[in-house]
Amino acid sequence: MLRLQDVVSPTLVVDESKARANIQRMAHIAKTHQLIFRPHFKTHQSALVGNWFKEEGVTKITVSNLEMAYYFAQHGWNDITLAIPINIRDLARINRLAAHIKLNLVLDDLETLAQLQAGLEKRCSIYIKLDTGYGRAGIPCNDMAKIKALLHQLAKSQHTVFEGFVWHDGHTYQAHNTNQIRAIRHTTLERLQPLKTFMKELGTQVIFSGGDTPSCSICDDYAGMDEIRPGNFVFYDWMQHSLGSCTSKQIAVAMFCPVLRVYHDRNQVLIHGGAVHFSKESLQSDSKPIYGKIVLPKPDLTWGEPLEMASLISISQEHGLIEGSEEWVKNVKAGQLIGVLPVHSCLTVACMGGYTTTDGQKAVIYKAD
Ligand code: PLP
Repeated sequence: MLRLQDVVSPTLVVDESKARANIQRMAHIAKTHQLIFRPHFKTHQSALVGNWFKEEGVTKITVSNLEMAYYFAQHGWNDITLAIPINIRDLARINRLAAHIKLNLVLDDLETLAQLQAGLEKRCSIYIKLDTGYGRAGIPCNDMAKIKALLHQLAKSQHTVFEGFVWHDGHTYQAHNTNQIRAIRHTTLERLQPLKTFMKELGTQVIFSGGDTPSCSICDDYAGMDEIRPGNFVFYDWMQHSLGSCTSKQIAVAMFCPVLRVYHDRNQVLIHGGAVHFSKESLQSDSKPIYGKIVLPKPDLTWGEPLEMASLISISQEHGLIEGSEEWVKNVKAGQLIGVLPVHSCLTVACMGGYTTTDGQKAVIYKAD
């Protein structure tokens, strides 16, 4: 079991009780709105935390690459949505996995669908990817001609079973306040309405699946949605806090970093903890970038509330520089540990390749094989 005094290098710690509370809360939101809860596992990426979801009754999951799908299939998950447009070069591995689990694939063009149908040997559920305003991938959700063409082509192979539509409102991350997040959700639901009506008239029951962490954390409007796929909420992070989608108490990850030097003349503290640990993701705060928010570790591996007067203001590969008030810096000592709430927990977990939980369990994230 890890003890605070044994931490000698940057160590990512997950507060199990906070993460479990985050899972319970989102499962409750899904239940209240009668939605399928298909959490995205790209944030925690480990079988250990996957089990915490199982304990909440979750049976369907989302992943962001095929290696992750294989990993979670090996850990007993048998209904997995690969929520990235199909990579047709990966057809052999898709066929192998689809022989063992219900694999749900996402696509948005006829050419890939035709190639898929030519090479698919096992049944896969297919979701059409829609663009509801993010502008990353998907058919614009009002382009009925393209959607109809895909529906027509989908019916031509018994291996491609059309199941519904997916979208991801990643533009909620550009919102400046919670009202803007709610407005994005509202606009999306409005934009989807004609397609909903069209499918209803066809008499086909399909699933409408969306839901990023910011909107699922704060919105009450799910009209027309059947499924949600948030992922980041399991740990949250300082970015979600800045968006207003979580409180600081809900943030379930912190990096414990050794203090290397204290520079009293410039009120700065040098830590071991840089881009290889956190990623380079930053947030603007008072027109300056910040790379994390400072907390103080406790002996039981938990941490206190973020400090108003100190932030991680710059990082290079392994170094991190914290700037704080004179009063705070005065009491920091080389050799002590400082906790940092990361800006983007998904990337920090990916950089670290694993984490330790507050009750001493070690999680290693999925590995490609
Ligand atoms: N679905 C898709 C397709 C995504 O790309 C993502 C995140 O990138 C999610 C769901 C989960 O959203 P969030 O990271 O906001 O929890």
